Amino acid sequence: MANVLQAGESVTFSGVYKVVHSGQQSEAHYVLALRGATFPGCLRCSDQAKFQLALSAVYVVTHPFFHSEQRVTIGEEYSS
Ligand SMILES: [Zn+2]
Repeated sequence: MANVLQAGESVTFSGVYKVVHSGQQSEAHYVLALRGATFPGCLRCSDQAKFQLALSAVYVVTHPFFHSEQRVTIGEEYSS
């Protein structure tokens, strides 16, 4: 898989990520992660969970059309 990230790495693009766990303990599923956050470790397979961006989508208040003066530290895509 291309661009696979794992626990402890920074979220570089906000969006929906497919998570694949180690072994058979859990089926793959999807999660939402925001840029600037860190992928957390899985309570079952620790840092063996792999995250792959499935759908890139910016946090609404960071989009230029909706951007306000309010500073956001999580999910910030633009530095205007
Ligand atoms: Zn896991």
